Amino acid sequence: MSSATPTTASARGISQRVQGFTESVIREMTRLAMEHNAINLAQGFPDFAAPDFIKEAAAAAIAADINQYSVTWGDPELRQAIAGKYQRWYQLPVDADAHVTVCCGSTEAMIATLIAVLNPGDETVVFEPFYENYGPDSILSGAAPRFVPLRPSQDGWNFDRAELRAAFNERTRAIILNSPNNPTGKVFTRAELEFIRDLCVEWDCIAITDEIYEHIVYDGRPHVLLAGLEGMAERTVTISGISKTFSVTGWRVGWAIAPARLAGGIRKVHDFLTVGAPAPLQIAAARAIAGGDEYCRGLAAEYTARRKRILPQLQAAGFQCAWPEGAYYVLADCAPFLAAHGPDDVAFSRWLTAEIGVACVPGSSFYHRAGDGSDQVRFCFSKQDPTLDEAGRRLARVRSQA
Ligand code: GLN
Repeated sequence: MSSATPTTASARGISQRVQGFTESVIREMTRLAMEHNAINLAQGFPDFAAPDFIKEAAAAAIAADINQYSVTWGDPELRQAIAGKYQRWYQLPVDADAHVTVCCGSTEAMIATLIAVLNPGDETVVFEPFYENYGPDSILSGAAPRFVPLRPSQDGWNFDRAELRAAFNERTRAIILNSPNNPTGKVFTRAELEFIRDLCVEWDCIAITDEIYEHIVYDGRPHVLLAGLEGMAERTVTISGISKTFSVTGWRVGWAIAPARLAGGIRKVHDFLTVGAPAPLQIAAARAIAGGDEYCRGLAAEYTARRKRILPQLQAAGFQCAWPEGAYYVLADCAPFLAAHGPDDVAFSRWLTAEIGVACVPGSSFYHRAGDGSDQVRFCFSKQDPTLDEAGRRLARVRSQA
């Protein structure tokens, strides 16, 4: 008998790369919310119905037997619809054949882009707090992120230009920019984007923008496309999708718009990762994008009403927070509650979920350094009025228990 025959379970485990990952805190909070039957203001998704026109288009596409793989980088109808949209909304010329890659959500568009453009040893610049995926995304692509702080102030979340400039060096290959921003709600202004553009040009970097909340902006602020600034179309990958705009986060349809010299690489990575996004849902996305401008224009007003509904309730409960300029989150200060229900954001979030019945995301999951964000929690307000009001009623008990 061969002595090589294994008699015990293999000791081989997960790769070193993946050992560096922590579990997604956002998704863990959703599980905890379900376990405690809490109102889930943690993970960012709506609890209301998607618009009929997109659901009807999806049902029609399935009835029409659109069941097989589409072109790997996206159904031509959807790529055309995306190109048309960027022209109509942002006057950005996009070539459906050369520039657009349709992916399984903007999440896949981001990782496919990073893998396609970064080498080990490259650096990226990332504003912090940041959407938690950018951490593991960096590990998977082998690059090292350099973080630049966004700090809350009277007029929202801001960065220091000298600090941003200092983050760039000869190893910098890309800046990852999320505007409207998750979790802070910051909407980068044209002047800020021009400053970022100048750094990208100076250091010959590309910008990778996550614009998934592009239609959720408040107080008449414009959503400015970095790719639309002079000199940036050639060095920007613009990422977005239908998840947040059409309230279909589970459909997984997003895209990356890239200059032709990068699009080929992004398409190859995308092809080997997932082959393609769901074919009938791509058709539904195409119809919704082509015919949904009025609906998109109405989103700002709808979310303005939700923001107005939840913010005063959070503030009355004792959470200090700046009113978001865009997206559908509030990053709130929970410091006053930590003495009684801490010691930190994680303990507080668990207590809030289990004892108050409202789930949120611990702020530390948006920072790379242990301890940062430990007095912050994020609430998502993409919810129906009764959900927000019930959450408000429950949160009113927090203060009395502090
Ligand atoms: N973008 C959403 C959030 O920040 C959803 C995250 C996720 O689970 N992919 O909550």
